[in-house]
Amino acid sequence: MQPIDLAFDQRHIWHPYTSLTSPLPTYPVVSARGVELELEDGRRLIDGMASWWSAVHGYNHPDLNQAAHNQLDRMAHVMFGGITHGPAVDLAKQLVAMTPPSLDAVFLADSGSISVEVAIKMALQYQASRGKPEKTQLLTIRQGYHGDTFAAMSVCDPVNGMHELFTGILAKHHFAPAPVIKPWESWNETETQVLEALFAEHHGSIAAFILEPIVQGAGGMRFYHPEYLRKARALCDHYDVLLIADEIATGFGRTGRLFACEHAGITPDIMCVGKALSGGYMTLAATIATRHIAKTIGKGPGGGALMHGPTFMANPLACAVASASLGIIQQGAWQQQVEAIGEQLATGLAPCREFDSVADVRCFGAIGVVEMKAPVDVAKAQRFFVDRGVWIRPFGRLIYVMPPYVIQTDQLKQITQAICAWCECGK
Ligand SMILES: *Cc1c(COP(=O)(O)O)cnc(C)c1O
Repeated sequence: MQPIDLAFDQRHIWHPYTSLTSPLPTYPVVSARGVELELEDGRRLIDGMASWWSAVHGYNHPDLNQAAHNQLDRMAHVMFGGITHGPAVDLAKQLVAMTPPSLDAVFLADSGSISVEVAIKMALQYQASRGKPEKTQLLTIRQGYHGDTFAAMSVCDPVNGMHELFTGILAKHHFAPAPVIKPWESWNETETQVLEALFAEHHGSIAAFILEPIVQGAGGMRFYHPEYLRKARALCDHYDVLLIADEIATGFGRTGRLFACEHAGITPDIMCVGKALSGGYMTLAATIATRHIAKTIGKGPGGGALMHGPTFMANPLACAVASASLGIIQQGAWQQQVEAIGEQLATGLAPCREFDSVADVRCFGAIGVVEMKAPVDVAKAQRFFVDRGVWIRPFGRLIYVMPPYVIQTDQLKQITQAICAWCECGK
């Protein structure tokens, strides 16, 4: 194999959220199997990130590989305009079966951000179609993350999402304070007072309330009380606002339920899924809406078309792999796995609480978070973790892990010990 040209990479290729001119170091990976990434120099790293919530079954999974190979030999891609194919139909059937009964209209998008764009577009077209064109704004909560395209960015946390960079370009929406009561704490009605006031004042112009159910991911790795979500559902019903649940990070078992909305026993009007959908193999997401929304849009202006249609919509390769991935989810082993990971993270990360450098340690589902008091030096931390044979990518003041569901006890132990070691050094 040719060596990876790191000098070229450094000079010419942007990596996520980094400068091209003073980039952070990158680690060359040549293969991945199970829960291990193999570096070019032969070192193996136990993956604590599941490639950003996605590789839940581990890398190089035989079922997913087989699905990809089989589909590749038929066709890698074909346009979805005026054409349909088995992989799309099979996948949509699974999504309709797995999501709450009222969600049954599926849009297959090419990434999480796009599925959020489509959800927002659905909400706006829905309101326009029922004679409420003045409902053009969105309501969301601070500390959220919904993607990097412009409409998605406009509902990300204004500070973390660096809204000031795009002042005058981003649409202005309504932000409620981030919920502070954690799922395991006792509920207090004061938590939703500001939210209620926002609904009362602005509902006439609000099309939808969008939030990440129970777990706020990339906007701060925060967990909040299911009662907040129940209240959100009730307020949406009362004030005639759609509820969009962004389950892109939480969907398919990560929080201990198939979907995080289940913690609150609520059903959104529109749900976005992505990340784990394809088992981390390919970029694919979906926006799933109620029949009522689909029908209402169908009666609207412009012949009732939903105005979206990416080139690689419903890519057959990605759909085939996603079907195989959901097949594994439907077998149900994730429930035990997520519970075991959660328990081990809670005990394995608990010692971090003792260190002065640490502000908070919190775990939920198969997610473990250590919040430091000061921002983490990412380059230094990554070197530290790589030296200990684990792959963890901190951001801001957060060191967090959401490993593949198939991780073994000794492997997860290596991860929690490495995090404890970092905190102990007082970094
Ligand atoms: C990752 C993520 C997105 C964006 O998905 P991409 O595939 O990166 O575009 C949106 N919402 C949430 C909650 C996410 O975690």
